[in-house]
Formats: sequence, C-alpha cells, structure tokens
Amino acid sequence: MADVAPTNSMDDIVALCRRRGFIWQSSEIYGGINGFWDYGPLGAELKRNLRDAWWEDIVRADLVGPDDKPFDVVGVDCTIIMNPKVWEASGHVGGFNDPMVDDKETKQRYRADHMWVREAQGENGDSIFVAIQLGSEDEAMTAWNHYDQENRLPDDIHNSLSKAVKKILGGAYTFKDRPFTYLDVDDDQRIHVIGESASEAGTLTEPRMFNLMFETFVGAIRDEENKVYLRPETAQGIFCNFNNVVDTQRVKAPFGIAQIGKAFRNEVTPRNFTFRSREFEQMEIEFFITHPDHAGDGGLTPSDWYAYWRDSRYAWWQSIGLAGDNLQLREHDRDELAHYAKDGAGTSDIEYRFPFTAPGFGELEGVAHRTDFDLRQHAEHSGYGKKMQYFDQERNARYFPHVIEPSAGADRGTLALLCEAFTPTPDRQGSKYVMKFHPRMAPIKAAVFPLVNKDGMPEVAESLYKELRTDHPVQIDVKQSIGKRYARMDEAGTPYCFTIDGDTLSDQTVTVRDRDTAAQERIGIDKVGAFLTEKIGG
Ligand code: ATP
Repeated sequence: MADVAPTNSMDDIVALCRRRGFIWQSSEIYGGINGFWDYGPLGAELKRNLRDAWWEDIVRADLVGPDDKPFDVVGVDCTIIMNPKVWEASGHVGGFNDPMVDDKETKQRYRADHMWVREAQGENGDSIFVAIQLGSEDEAMTAWNHYDQENRLPDDIHNSLSKAVKKILGGAYTFKDRPFTYLDVDDDQRIHVIGESASEAGTLTEPRMFNLMFETFVGAIRDEENKVYLRPETAQGIFCNFNNVVDTQRVKAPFGIAQIGKAFRNEVTPRNFTFRSREFEQMEIEFFITHPDHAGDGGLTPSDWYAYWRDSRYAWWQSIGLAGDNLQLREHDRDELAHYAKDGAGTSDIEYRFPFTAPGFGELEGVAHRTDFDLRQHAEHSGYGKKMQYFDQERNARYFPHVIEPSAGADRGTLALLCEAFTPTPDRQGSKYVMKFHPRMAPIKAAVFPLVNKDGMPEVAESLYKELRTDHPVQIDVKQSIGKRYARMDEAGTPYCFTIDGDTLSDQTVTVRDRDTAAQERIGIDKVGAFLTEKIGG
C-alpha cells in the first residue's frame, strides 16, 4: 500500500484527476461553481465500483451478526425533496446550523467551529490567542505542540500572514500553505479575531448561525407555505419508510434499511477538492435493533451491535484498498457526541489521512448509536404515534427500536481511493504516476494492445477485446507507442495490459504487463480470460 502521501501531492492528484478524466469542476466552461464537482468517465466508473461494492456487501450479501445468526438489510431509494415537516422532526430546521464568521475586509468566510483556539504568551507578556484556521484538530494540535515547546511556530510556517498578525507576533507564519487566523485580546479582555489576509485586527464579524439546508419552492407560488428543502442526509427517507418496510417485507428485528443517494449541504467553506462539497452522495444504513430493555433475555445489546458495525465497516474500507496506516478508527469522546447519542453505546469515525489533512485525518464514515431518537421524533411530529412502533412477535411487545447508523460518503470514499492509489514512479520509464487501485475498484480492469497497428495484430487484438468485454470492463487502444499506452493505463489504474505482438501470430501467446511492478510475462491467448477472472474476480 502507498505510504503517507506528502501534502504537496494533492496538486498532482488534482491535476491527474483532471487530465485523465476522473474529476472535473462542475460547469467548468463558465468558471466552475464552488463546492460542486463532476465525475468524468474514469471517475464515474470508480465511484460506481465503490457504490456497487457497498450495495453488494450490505444489501445483497448474506450477513451474520455477532451471535452468528443471519440478518437482513433491504434497500430503498427515496426522494431528495420531502415534506418539510420531516426536517422539523429531525431537528435540521432548528439545529442544522454552522457558526459562520465573515471577514469584512477580505470578504472571506470561515466556520467559527473550525478554528482551534489556544492561549499563548505574546512578546510583551500579553495573552494572545492563536487559532488555526480550518484545520483538523490533529493538525492544529501538531502545530500547537510545536508552538508550545519552542514558543514559535514550526519553521515551515512562514511569510503569508496579514500585517496585523505580524504586528502582534513580530513574525509571519503559515502552516502547510494554510494561513493561521489569530485572535488578539485588548485591555478589556475582548478578543479581536484577525482574518487571513486582513491588514488590521477586528475585521471579522461575530459568529452567526447559518442553516446548511438548500431551500427551494414546490409549485408556482414562492412563499413560506411552499418552501421545501433539498435533503441534507439520506437517513430521514429511511426513517419515514420504517413502517412501509416492516409491513411489506419479511423483516424482523434486528434488520437494516440501506440507501445510496445525493445529499446537499450549503457548506460555508467548501474546500479540499471533493472532501467538503455542497452536493455529494451518501451511503447510509439504519440498523434497527431491539430495545435495550430486552437485551437481557438472550438478545444482543446496542453496544454489541454498535461494536459489530463499527468493526465491520472499518474492515470493509480495508478490503477495498485502504489497508494501510492511512485508515484509522477513532472513538468519539462523550462530550463530542450529538445530543441524541449522549446516552448511547458510542460514536466513532472511520477516518482517512488525506494529503490535505496529514498528519491528521478526515472523516469517511461515521458509526453512531442514534438510540430511538429519530423514530420517536417522527412518531410525534407525524401524528402516527405508537403506530410507528415495531411489534416484536417473539416478545409480544411493542417498542421503538434503537438504531445503529453507519453513514458513509461516496465522494470522500472515492477521494480516499484516489489518494491511496496515487503513486509517483520516478524510476519507471514513461509513467510519472501509477494509480494502484484495488482490482475491484479499478475503473478499467484490463487493456488490449496490438504492438503495431498492422500485420494482422489489430484483428487478433479486436477479437480478444470482444471476448474479454463480455465479462469485464476492458479497453482496446491502438494509438501511439506502446510505452505511451502503458503510461496512459498506469494513470488510469488498469491492473493488466495484454499485448499482441509478432510472436502471438505464430505461437498464440500474448504478453501480460502488471501495473504495479511493470513486469511482463507471456501466457497463452486462450488463457487470458481465465487469468483476468482469477486476478480481479468474476
Ligand atoms: P463533517 O464534520 O466533515 O462536516 P459530518 O460529521 O457532518 O461531516 P455526517 O453528517 O456524519 O458528516 O455525514 C456522513 C458522511 O457524509 C460523512 O462521513 C462524509 O463522508 C459525508 N459528507 C458529509 N458532508 C459532506 C460534504 N460536505 N461533502 C462530502 N461528503 C460529505
């Protein structure tokens, strides 16, 4: 697996994504639109492979619980626009807010909760407060520890701070190309926040709450009554259909409902490529377990199921290629938990060390015990009341089941696959980079090349290509030198290339080139299909 990608590799990854058709800016010809991204042909395949693997391994798989008993997960596909009362019940209308700070001078906008503030001594002995803008907590702590020990920022933190900051610290600092934001305290102990490029202190507004839901109107009249929201998460479509699923399917608790779909959040500061987008795709499971009161009589507790999902989701990300040190599981502290999860069995994040978060990590998937909060809320707000309860025949009891929610992002997952696969190959002839995708994720599984586009080779290549493409996504390429064609497939992350050359016509063998080692071997042309199936799965 790839080592930790250096921070500056992100520019190269973004450039490769653009050059090879993985990811492009949305509406690029009009200058793009901040926080929205399109997937090109290779990116669309990669993201589809990720979603398909999730669906196959969750909805279509034979799953067994920690008690070795099988259980079901069924799929739904719900609408993006729902009755707006859904979002009152879920707490999103009242509470789905980020504190937002504007810089009046530079017109930049920040999330106040992403500034990690620490107190330090200024040069003249005053307290100054240093806030690290928009980094992860890990990243902030790394810089902070350095600051604390040396009473100065790391050597690589230099040069591009605002004049106001320089005045206070008598120095100039940036951290990994990301400027710090500083807070100064005046005689009345009031904090002045200083924006990234501002020339004086006090140009930032107080934090204001900002609702992240996109609004639109249904029907011809654009008034409050017709206001609706684009869903900020897919989960609520699942909760609203809880009874429909129970009534129409042969499911019994514990069971899960899964959904893949778009979600929209008007993020204050979309950044880091697709990591924080305003339109993105989620892959969510709501897993309905028995009420904790019933766990004593032979059932599993919410903690058992929480641990099961946490560990199996972590193992799943490892199984599709994030097997190295860049993936970690992080259990939340109690005081970090969402209000509904305070009494629960726990919350954890599966995190990836992206080049832009390194040495810190960014969330790929959250696993949370949501208790029975959502079903109770919907029962109350919809007027369905106890009819929304689950009837447990075994126990002859009605209750709101508790829920474990593994909630993953398909775009962040795709970005993690891209970052993990990205491997500079300075020693390899022709290819500057190789994308070492797990074979299951690779957008193209194999390529077929005639060595030259004559002497009967194209015809043999064409017939091999046609044979292979019935089972696998493969490509044929006849253009340019063989070295350039290999390099192109290395950047696409294609695990194998089969080349038809002069010998093929006489001895019926082809060369197989391995993406990761560039090693070549010869195999019989009639063995190619079986070789590919064995290597990448059928
Ligand atoms: P963050 O703290 O990074 O904003 P979150 O904790 O709000 O994320 P959840 O509400 O738990 O995220 O959403 C579940 C998953 O959806 C996340 O783990 C992530 O993969 C994905 N996701 C959430 N917001 C975004 C976004 N703006 N862009 C891309 N993916 C996102």
